[in-house]
Amino acid sequence: MKALTFQGEGDVKIREVPKPSVAASNDALIKVTLGAVCGSDLHILHGHTPMNPGTILGHEFVGVVEEVGPEVKRFKPGDRVVSSFFTSCGHCTLCRKGWFNQCVEKGTFGHGEYFGGLGGGQADYVVVPNADHTMEGIPDGIRDDQAIFVGDILSTGFFGAERAEIKPGDVVAIVGAGPVGLMATMCAQLFGPAKVFVIDMVDARLEIAQELGGIPINAKEVHPVGAIESATGGIGADSSIECVGLISAIDTAIHCVRGGGTISVVGVPSAVQADFPYLRMWLKSLTFRAGWCNVQAYMRPLLELIAAGRLRPEKIISHRMKLEQAEEAYRMFDAREATKIVLTP
Ligand SMILES: [Zn+2]
Ligand SMILES: [Zn+2]
Repeated sequence: MKALTFQGEGDVKIREVPKPSVAASNDALIKVTLGAVCGSDLHILHGHTPMNPGTILGHEFVGVVEEVGPEVKRFKPGDRVVSSFFTSCGHCTLCRKGWFNQCVEKGTFGHGEYFGGLGGGQADYVVVPNADHTMEGIPDGIRDDQAIFVGDILSTGFFGAERAEIKPGDVVAIVGAGPVGLMATMCAQLFGPAKVFVIDMVDARLEIAQELGGIPINAKEVHPVGAIESATGGIGADSSIECVGLISAIDTAIHCVRGGGTISVVGVPSAVQADFPYLRMWLKSLTFRAGWCNVQAYMRPLLELIAAGRLRPEKIISHRMKLEQAEEAYRMFDAREATKIVLTP
């Protein structure tokens, strides 16, 4: 089968590789019908993730079940499914507490040996371990190019918005209008805010944010913290959702929030450590939350919201390409020539 593989820093290539097969009793073999390129794929491209050459890439995918192991109960061949970007067992202590992303057995697709040695979804086929707990069935009427987002970035946007504790009438600031920031812009509005400001430096992304109901702030033109202060009578936003991961963006997320407000960070941090404004957090009674999405808890409700027409995540797709064009897709996404690229095998 064909698969996109990591070769070394800055080097990904389409290669012919062996088709994977069901090995464990809870595995499912999926014929991929759509994959997507994600910001964390760029971390891999740039050599920031420990990866062996030859590793198959891709952690955002939907497909059709081709074969299941004997212990898989919820799925059968022919079912359309979306997978979370990571596996969870569903029965360890942390899964039973509802924190599936802290599962003791978790692995991440397309991230190499260090993250569990799973296959990747930028390929013709992928094996999903712990299939009953890692996948959701796609309801009739939901297209692949909608369902694919519940496995990662739509869930992440919702998780960020939920943890920002948005109340009706609130002012929300979203830092970053990349794919996750745009998803957060959509999801924040489910909680009834009066205004959602979206901060970025790329006009094309800010235009989509505006189409999704956000109020764009171009950080190249104005200081974003000052702009939000002057739009709120000098007070600041009630909450912020950080969707970039750069320390400067996390700083903006902290400083644009009013006293008593909440900061919710979902961007993948670009540094291991940085200064933290402890005194400001204390003086202003701020709540700071950070973390990566607990996807398995959100896939089903988000599929329902898509089915009901209340979320349209496919609006952020800027390019639809073939898997064979994945190398070019990575180049374009890295150069910010594309907002979101989906790949058809
Ligand atoms: Zn992703
Ligand atoms: Zn578990």
